[in-house]
Amino acid sequence: MAEIACTGVSKLYGDSILAVDGIDLTFVSGRTTALLGPSGCGKSTLLRLIAGLEEPTAGTVSIAGDPPAALCRRGGLSIAFQDPCLLPWLTVARNVALGRKLARQAPDPQRVDQLINLVGLGGFQNARPAALSGGMRQRAAIARALITRPQVLLLDEPFGALDALTRRQLAQDLPPLWQEQDATALLVTHSVDEAVMLADRIVVLSPRPARVIADLAVPLPRPRD
Ligand code: ADP
Ligand code: ADP
Repeated sequence: MAEIACTGVSKLYGDSILAVDGIDLTFVSGRTTALLGPSGCGKSTLLRLIAGLEEPTAGTVSIAGDPPAALCRRGGLSIAFQDPCLLPWLTVARNVALGRKLARQAPDPQRVDQLINLVGLGGFQNARPAALSGGMRQRAAIARALITRPQVLLLDEPFGALDALTRRQLAQDLPPLWQEQDATALLVTHSVDEAVMLADRIVVLSPRPARVIADLAVPLPRPRD
């Protein structure tokens, strides 16, 4: 169980750019929450604060009671970005296995193989990224993120660069994989579509500085006809 707690979290860049303003939120395991807001509102900043890649100017972030960096070091936290960042000279299998290596976990070739199959890349273990479509590369990136069995999975516009059909397919196929691992998943996006497809909770953020303006359960109630 890795509950994420943000308490009064703010981030000021320099002395005038307030990106995040007094965020109070908690996120529980096994759920996927979308942080939805317009471009430049401070979403990625909030994600980096939760990842421990930056320090808040005020407030605290804790994951299961500890600072995020502690979990990060154990491979308990994975991040996936819009750019899948696969190493072009390595095969899919080696790219996925690299996730464990970077977290200093023992190799687990069986799990690498299994996860590649689960994300729908069976048969592409030995392919290089250049031979894959954009959707397939993002599948590989998600496999690499999940190979450490992270308790926390952070996704920054993961499918933002893909066409609508591919996004829909990935949104169907991939969330069960991290839900099954009981990960606490956070998704940053400016796309209502992506939020509704992937998340079971949507936190709507204001234009900069990011403040919580709504906290909704998905599926959203349908307007009555
Ligand atoms: P979003 O992810 O919602 O598009 P960001 O978190 O990337 O927004 O950025 C929020 C605001 O903070 C923007 O105005 C951006 O220019 C600014 N910002 C982000 N990172 C830095 C940084 N390292 N230094 C200074 N300003 C930054
Ligand atoms: P897309 O390939 O359109 O980006 P998906 O990731 O959903 O979206 O891929 C759909 C399926 O199409 C893949 O699982 C794969 O079986 C097949 N496919 C896509 N590109 C290739 C390719 N270059 N070689 C072989 N099969 C491919």
